[in-house]
Amino acid sequence: MTSTVEPEKPDLYLVPTPIGNLQDITLRAIEVLKSADILLAEDTRTTGRLLKHLDIQRPLQSYHIFNEHKTVEKWLSAMKEGKQVALVSDAGTPGISDPGFLLVRAAREAGLIVHCLPGPTAFVPALVNSGLPNDRFVFEGFLPHKKGRKTRLDFLKEENRTMVFYESPHRLMKTLLQFKETMGGDRMACVSRELTKIYEENIRGTLDELIAYYEENPIKGEIVLTLSGKT
Ligand code: SAM
Repeated sequence: MTSTVEPEKPDLYLVPTPIGNLQDITLRAIEVLKSADILLAEDTRTTGRLLKHLDIQRPLQSYHIFNEHKTVEKWLSAMKEGKQVALVSDAGTPGISDPGFLLVRAAREAGLIVHCLPGPTAFVPALVNSGLPNDRFVFEGFLPHKKGRKTRLDFLKEENRTMVFYESPHRLMKTLLQFKETMGGDRMACVSRELTKIYEENIRGTLDELIAYYEENPIKGEIVLTLSGKT
């Protein structure tokens, strides 16, 4: 059992950062980036550029999928010694298809206080822009690339809530075609590209329409794919 009444000073902050438009950083996020004792970054160069833009000069420690298992204990010890740690990923909310979960779980299991600040993440604007029902939805993150992909698609065929996927531009067509094959070409979907950036685009249509559109208009940039549930 864990308490919901927590003292004011967290041991671990998760700090969301912009997914494109740098204006989307919150005042509170800036404050934490200035004050935390230790800043962990998925890519120190990417976060370094953000800090430079914010006029913050702080050392950054590396925390990414290749070292998170090895370093969790080290950062846990630092928190236990009273250091306040802040984690940022390259963009959006840490822990959402990004490193974060392991550290949060370890911190919570050690009885430490964790606060995730509210802020940028790609799936929320994509879901809302899609015009698909959002009273209930499921976040699917990235589909498995190979092993388990077909099983997942067959499972999702019966899902009746709106589904949200992260996808790469070079795999979009394959995914749209597999959705069509599994769920039929008349399912509604929306492709949100480059959210919050200059070339933001949200294209909505049936899977058949989207396939036809992207055959003519090859896509670049970052993508969230939103798919209607079974009706
Ligand atoms: N932690 C991030 C979040 O909170 O959204 C997600 C990180 S995940 C590694 C990166 C994926 O998020 C991209 O491949 C893309 O699917 C999606 N994404 C991130 N920024 C985006 C943007 N500006 N427009 C569309 N999709 C974006």
